[in-house]
Amino acid sequence: DLGSSLRGTLDKLRGKSRISEEDVDEVVKEIQRSLLQADVDTSLVMELSDDISSRALDEEPPGGTTARDHVLRIVYEELVDLVGESTELPLEEQTILLAGLQGSGKTTTAAKMAWWFSKKGLRPAVIQTDTFRPGAYDQAKQMADSAEVSFYGDPDESDPVAIARDGLEATSDAEVHIVDTAGRHALEDDLIDEIEDIEDAVDPDRRLLVLDAAIGQGAKEQAQRFDDAIGIDGVVITKLDGTAKGGGALTAVNETESTIAFLGSGETVKDIERFEPSGFISRLLGMGDLKQLTERVERAMEETDEEEEDWDPEDMLQGEFTLKDMRHQMKALDRMGPLGQVMDMIPGMGGNIMDQLPDDAMDVTQERMRTFETIMDSMTEGELENPRSIGQSRTERIARGSGTSEDDIRELLQQYRTMSQALKQFQGMGDSDMQRMMKQ
Ligand code: GDP
Ligand code: MG
Repeated sequence: DLGSSLRGTLDKLRGKSRISEEDVDEVVKEIQRSLLQADVDTSLVMELSDDISSRALDEEPPGGTTARDHVLRIVYEELVDLVGESTELPLEEQTILLAGLQGSGKTTTAAKMAWWFSKKGLRPAVIQTDTFRPGAYDQAKQMADSAEVSFYGDPDESDPVAIARDGLEATSDAEVHIVDTAGRHALEDDLIDEIEDIEDAVDPDRRLLVLDAAIGQGAKEQAQRFDDAIGIDGVVITKLDGTAKGGGALTAVNETESTIAFLGSGETVKDIERFEPSGFISRLLGMGDLKQLTERVERAMEETDEEEEDWDPEDMLQGEFTLKDMRHQMKALDRMGPLGQVMDMIPGMGGNIMDQLPDDAMDVTQERMRTFETIMDSMTEGELENPRSIGQSRTERIARGSGTSEDDIRELLQQYRTMSQALKQFQGMGDSDMQRMMKQ
């Protein structure tokens, strides 16, 4: 799975404060692979890679940021730039025209969007102008019924422009008019002529191009033709519940200088969501939610700075690793939320020493960490700084004071020894490297 190999590559940047050209190349190659596999246009991928590379190498990571977080953030920002924000859709009276090839999902999307607007408190109507495909009327009517929205169509009328006009009049009490159109199997002049005529008659506020997520390179020509004919304001990507990631649709967005409005993810009217860049990007890359992760790391770092000003990571190097250090590290981890979730999500952990430790040294559950924190709150400064001073009688006192058991205390001390030993593996590192790493 591509996400995990990208994750692996990013993980290799752990503990590095400087990023080399090779590191950046490797990350960029993984991203290229993910995006190409997701059908993103080659030239778009190349542009993006260049931007990521130059920024990652030129920009100095801000204080308190690891090389990995720095790169991750750049990757995320550049991808947001590529996919764009979602198409603006004010909740007010409007007419929306849907265009696209046959089978792209227009009729389904029309009903889905109507359902979506009705949930937002507006009265929508679907107007069905497809006179080309047999059964189009029945299908559209059925879908509008299941969305419980107004519907207009006329199976006896053969002129789509007349249906569109009549439809707007017949549903004049609706606030949002969604005009569904016919498609063809391929781009044909009569399709383009027809949609131009409907557009003229309807004078829509928004013209959305509906694209199947599986569309690959064909997106470019389709986007150009429809854009030339009616002007495309936004894109809807359908069938994202399948294996296709919808990267081809980005070509259309880029071609038409538009944005993405909605994503379709199933056959029922409820299977629609507003486009939102971070979720879509995560899906493109096959990774967890990047935005959530980067925010989480930032928050944790900020809070750490605020709360523990008296804690100096360099003490950990100069002197010995103490329970104070361990408490600091645990609190930082705890703030990031459920540990398993953070681990799953990828890199992160911004310069946390526990992140540098072997897995078994880190094998503490969230619940365990909370208990440990409670215990440490019951210890004196002297005990925290010199855990070796904690003998049997102190163990009893701390257990009583913290409402835990003596075994809990022993387990904590064992955890401390494990971490302390694991830390020794870093003793071989140069002092300045080490200090830089700890400062992140
Ligand atoms: P149109 O020709 O552009 O109007 O396309 P339709 O709305 O008729 O959709 C074509 C087919 O794709 C139908 O079988 C739909 O049920 C299916 N479809 C549309 N959107 C989605 C979607 O988001 N997910 C899935 N799985 N199927 C969809
Ligand atoms: Mg249709």
